[in-house]
Amino acid sequence: MPSESLKIDNARYIITVDPERRIIQDGSILVENGSVSRVGKAAALANATADRVIDARNLVVTPGFLNGHMHISYAHAVRGIFPDNLGSPLSHVFKLQMAMTEEEEHATTLLGLVELVKNGTVCFVDPGSTKFPDACLQAYQDAGIRVILGDCVTDQEAPFPLPRYATAEAVTRTMSFLKKWQGRLDGRIRAWAMPFSPETCSADLLRQLKRVADERHTCLTLHHNSGPQARKDSQARNGHTPTEYLESVGVLGPNVVLAHSLGLDDAEIECLARTGATVAMCPVTAAKGGRGVAEFGRMPELLAKRVKVALGCDSPNNSNHLDIVRAMNMAAIQYKDSRQDMRLIPAESALEMATLVGAQALGVADEIGSIETGKRADLVLFDTQRPEWQALFNPVNNLVYNADGRSVHTVIIDGRVVVDAYRQSFVDEPKLYAMVQEIGEKLQARTGTTFPRSRWQIV
Ligand SMILES: [Zn+2]
Repeated sequence: MPSESLKIDNARYIITVDPERRIIQDGSILVENGSVSRVGKAAALANATADRVIDARNLVVTPGFLNGHMHISYAHAVRGIFPDNLGSPLSHVFKLQMAMTEEEEHATTLLGLVELVKNGTVCFVDPGSTKFPDACLQAYQDAGIRVILGDCVTDQEAPFPLPRYATAEAVTRTMSFLKKWQGRLDGRIRAWAMPFSPETCSADLLRQLKRVADERHTCLTLHHNSGPQARKDSQARNGHTPTEYLESVGVLGPNVVLAHSLGLDDAEIECLARTGATVAMCPVTAAKGGRGVAEFGRMPELLAKRVKVALGCDSPNNSNHLDIVRAMNMAAIQYKDSRQDMRLIPAESALEMATLVGAQALGVADEIGSIETGKRADLVLFDTQRPEWQALFNPVNNLVYNADGRSVHTVIIDGRVVVDAYRQSFVDEPKLYAMVQEIGEKLQARTGTTFPRSRWQIV
């Protein structure tokens, strides 16, 4: 934990996302012992001194971003290999994922972390894709990022290769994972229960894992979709819609985060609102994957019912970027288009999902998600000296509609500067890129996963 104090001085704007949603023009922030100790007008903090002062007159400051569903492991090594005409790449995805070695996963994880922090993500949920967290611990420590980890478990037949165990073993594994990982790295690591999905886990397993999460005061996340076919299948299997099924087996609650959650009907949304279960939606994955947001996306209705929604980037082969600013942009524009109503998902709502509301969805809002006295100092400083930030009158609109993660200038997590004027200092990037390229070549050869390199001839 840094004992160094830090002052972000005279920021062009501070978008606090505090309870009054104040945007402070010419604002300053004082960071002491890793927390925000003061935030206000620069003039009011003029006499506050610190070990380091960042001149922020050309910077816009936001809370650090949360990424509620972000698989990092195999995908960086083989990013972009699936041609569009392949359709769903899922069977290949899990085959590649299962074939990763410890050393390979360490390298791809490092690359994932570099991309995440450089785009302003300070906390992300890896939904059980990391097979070798021990090997990745040093990477988490070096990057300084907050990570929510879990052991992906299933106890049923699945259409693709997933880690499958006897029910009791899946529960034991989860319990030991929570015991080992919860609270490490000064609390920056959290551990959750991570059953893959309702289709691949028995009701008994889901129920037991929910109980474990409750007893350990932690959360549970799983993949969840509905829609006409899934509702029909679920009705035939257990007499309920997919969401009501989860409620019927006692698996919904404020510590449960459902991922994707497309195709919910009104009763299912009511069910989430009633139980306090939250959602992590991946708007770019939904769009790129042709999941039919126009028909199946219910983000406006979820938010209207005050269901807490976080945004996610899913995977480097799904969305494919790890840039929450672009996810905010997609969330803000896709409902306007699909429902022909420009009032839907205003820029402010998109920013809330990436910050405070996302933090509430992930159960970490007591620590992060807004810039307020007493909260941990997780901050993103955007560089406005770039064409896409001109002209600047409304910083929220410019952030969500004009910018992307490339204007992230400086990132602070837990009071530590992890990206400093565009540079991170925890890894040699060109060396890492070469290593991951080589891993990708070997992984494809080893698993026999090959596709034409491009639909156009590479000469
Ligand atoms: Zn996922």
